[in-house]
Amino acid sequence: SPSPIVPHEKFHVSIEVCLKPSSTARPEDVRKAVEQMLKKRSMSYVDGPVPVPADDAFLMENVQRICICDTDEWVKNHDILLFWQVKPLVHVFQLSEEGPCEELSADGQLSSFNEWILPAKEFDGMWESLIYESGLKQRLLRYAASALLFTERGVDSFLVSWNRIVLLHGPPGTGKTSLCKALAQKLSIRFSSRYPQCQLIEVNAHSLFSKWFSESGKLVAKLFQKIQEMVEEENSLVFVLIDEVESLAAARKAALSGSEPSDSIRVVNALLTQMDKLKSSPNVIILTTSNITAAIDIAFVDRADIKAYVGPPTLQARYEILRSCLQELIRTGIISSVQGSSQAILPDYVTLKQKLSMPETQEVQVTLLLSKQLLEAAEACEGLSGRSLRKLPFLAHAALDNPFICDPSKFLYTMIDTARRERSEL
Ligand code: ADP
Repeated sequence: SPSPIVPHEKFHVSIEVCLKPSSTARPEDVRKAVEQMLKKRSMSYVDGPVPVPADDAFLMENVQRICICDTDEWVKNHDILLFWQVKPLVHVFQLSEEGPCEELSADGQLSSFNEWILPAKEFDGMWESLIYESGLKQRLLRYAASALLFTERGVDSFLVSWNRIVLLHGPPGTGKTSLCKALAQKLSIRFSSRYPQCQLIEVNAHSLFSKWFSESGKLVAKLFQKIQEMVEEENSLVFVLIDEVESLAAARKAALSGSEPSDSIRVVNALLTQMDKLKSSPNVIILTTSNITAAIDIAFVDRADIKAYVGPPTLQARYEILRSCLQELIRTGIISSVQGSSQAILPDYVTLKQKLSMPETQEVQVTLLLSKQLLEAAEACEGLSGRSLRKLPFLAHAALDNPFICDPSKFLYTMIDTARRERSEL
C-alpha cells in the first residue's frame, strides 16, 4: 500500500536518485541502500551530485546518479549543512523514455494534445536549468506539496478553502511553460511513493481553434474520458497543462460577438466544462500559463490558489543563465577552456560580487577577468527574455570571425556585441 506523504520540515534534505534505464531493482531497495550509504558517510550537504561509491556493487549496478536538490531555500547563502543536522529524504525514480504519446492525434494531423509518462527523459534537467530569484521555484514546489498533503489528509474544502490550480503569468519567453513541465516532473519524483504513476497531458489551447481541428470536439471528449480513467486510479497523479489559457477566454468573447466559427467554440466550451469537472478530483493538478497579466475570465483559473508572476530575468538571473551557457560550451569544447584546465569553474554571481568588493591587492585571475566580462554581457542583456538569452551564445558563435579557434574572452566580446544588436531589434 502507498506510503503517506511526509510533511515538509526544516532540515529535511531531498536526495534524488535516478536509476539506470537498465535497472530492474525495486525503488524501495535502492532507497534503503542509499540511506545506508549516507549514514556511513559523514558528508556535508550542499546542492549537487553525490558520487556513487565504487565499492557498492548494488548501487553501481543500478544507480545513474545521486543528487542533493533544492536545499538553498532555507540555507543562508553558501552555508553548508552537516550530516547530523539533516534528515535525508531519498526519492528514487527511473526516467520514462517513451516520449510524448501521439495516440490522440487524428490521422496525420498535428496533435493538439501531448501526453507524457512522468518522470520523463525529455524534462530531465529542466528544473535546474530554469533560473529565478527570490525562491520562485521553491515556493511553487511547496504550494503544490501542501495542496497534495491537504488532499491526502482529506481536509474539508468547505472549512479550509484550497485548490490545485496553478497559474503562471508574465511576458512571453520567461520560461512559464517550461516551469510547469519541470514542476510536474519534480512533483512526480517527490511524490513517487504515494503516486507511483504520473502523467502529464499538455493541451495547446491555441491549436484548438485551428481550422484543421474540426475533429477537435471528438478529441476533447476522448481525451477527457481517458483522463477520467487515469484519475479514477487512486495511485496515479495527473497533471493537465494548458498553455496560453487567455486564448480560451478570448475565443469565448469572440463567439459572443460572432467572429469565431461555432465549431471551435463548441470545442472550447467542452474543454472548459471538462476542466471544471476535473478540478474537484483529488489527484489532478491543473497547470496553466498566460502571457497577459490582467485577470482571466475563465471559471477554472479565476480562483487559482497558486498564482505567480514570472518576470524577465534580473541581472543575477541573466548572469547565471549566461554562465550555464558558457560552461556548457566549454564542456563540449566549442570554447577553449580557461588556462588549459579541463574544468573552468566560473564563480557564481554572489561569489563574484564578493570577490569584486575585495581590495585590489588580490591576485588577478583569468577566471575573474572572464567573469567580469560575463557580468558585462549580462548587463548588456537587460530587457531580453530568458528564451533570447539561451539563444544568444549560439548567435554569437555564428557571428565569430573564426569559429574554430574560440577563446572565451573573444567569445564573450562577440556575445556582448550580439546582445546589443538583439536589444536594438526589440
Ligand atoms: P514561456 O512559456 O514563458 O513563453 P518557455 O517556457 O517557452 O517560456 O521558455 C522558453 C525557453 O527559454 C526555456 O525552455 C528556457 O530554455 C529559456 N528560459 C526562459 N526563462 C528562463 C529562465 N528564467 N532561466 C533559464 N532559462 C529560461
